Amino acid sequence: MEGTGENKMAVYLDNAATTHPRPKAVYQAVLHALEEVGASPGRASHRLAREASAIVMRAREKIARLLDISGPNRVIFTKNATESINIALKGWLRPGDRVVISGMEHNSVVRPLRRLSESGVIVEIVPCSSSGQLDMSILRRSLDPPPRLVAITHASNVNGALQPVSEVAALCAERSVPLLLDGAQTAGVQPIFVEGWKLGMFACSGHKGLLGPPGVGILYIRPDLDVPALMEGGTGSRSEEAVQPQCCPDRYESGTPNLPGIAGLAAGVDFIFERGLDAIREHELKLAEILESGLAEMPGVKIYRPEARGTGAVSFTVDRLNPGDVGAILDETFDIAVRTGLHCAPLAHETLGALPEGTIRVSPGYATTREEVDYFLRSLETLLALRRRGDPKRDKKDRNA
Ligand code: PLP
Repeated sequence: MEGTGENKMAVYLDNAATTHPRPKAVYQAVLHALEEVGASPGRASHRLAREASAIVMRAREKIARLLDISGPNRVIFTKNATESINIALKGWLRPGDRVVISGMEHNSVVRPLRRLSESGVIVEIVPCSSSGQLDMSILRRSLDPPPRLVAITHASNVNGALQPVSEVAALCAERSVPLLLDGAQTAGVQPIFVEGWKLGMFACSGHKGLLGPPGVGILYIRPDLDVPALMEGGTGSRSEEAVQPQCCPDRYESGTPNLPGIAGLAAGVDFIFERGLDAIREHELKLAEILESGLAEMPGVKIYRPEARGTGAVSFTVDRLNPGDVGAILDETFDIAVRTGLHCAPLAHETLGALPEGTIRVSPGYATTREEVDYFLRSLETLLALRRRGDPKRDKKDRNA
């Protein structure tokens, strides 16, 4: 793992939440934007403001290239994937509309839809197998009559299960149903063809696989979809008019943009181009495979394996041990960061049969090494051996005393 901060943990395996550490160039770009540029983009005509605007435009161009979006102006910056998904769902759906989602969705889809269902939006959940794979025959049936929207997550944040997006997108396109793809876990890891797949809308975070800082999300809306914005305000354009500009991205980007965040994100995307999307994905999937085979040898460990794996996120539980306790011991005794519980995705846990306690999720990233994965596996083995001998929590306290 790169990075030399005082706070450095032995092993960070929580990259599905947010990438850490980021490439050095990301930190440098954030600092440069704050210290050397400093001005607000798109607001004034002085040199620093022009430089700030150029940073934002270059970021849009890089993201458009990575995600197969033909015009940089169709790349909308938000504050995270959650905001992007909220704009998409709340802008597009009206009372009486039917929306079809999968049984693996994150709360960023489930909760806005719960709110919309209170005003008459009908939410239909297409079940997934117990490993998280979308049931295509039920999905096909749910498209007749065509719903107003299909919204699915590309890969699960719980176990990395990858959905057959091109197939789903083709079915949706045949029926002229817009597809909203949640690419929070896959952007920067899996190839994404926003226009090639004819997606209606696409949402992702800038701080996960795209390696940027927190505080920036991405939204794409197909030009033929008239999706109202959730906020209006200053855009730096057409200031003489009281109505919000309707052109993209101004329609959705009110208020001062997060220049340091966007600059850092552009550096993260540069890093992906340099290292190669395929190399990053292969590295993460290889580490996931090592994790799964190591875990499979441990008695009492249940792995929530996907049929098709899209990311490095591996979820497991340990017989008669609470996931939260395992996570706490890994943190306090072995200095390993994992995530435990429901990972903001109770629906996915219901599908995987992991309610009510959820799972322990280990998610390697581009910077995770084989040695770190081996250290995690050895640490878990030690933890389980201690448990077989007695109470690992008591043992941990004795050693800390
Ligand atoms: N969708 C999925 C599948 C996620 O994993 C996450 C975050 O973990 C989100 C949406 C929300 O992303 P953000 O925290 O950037 O809003």
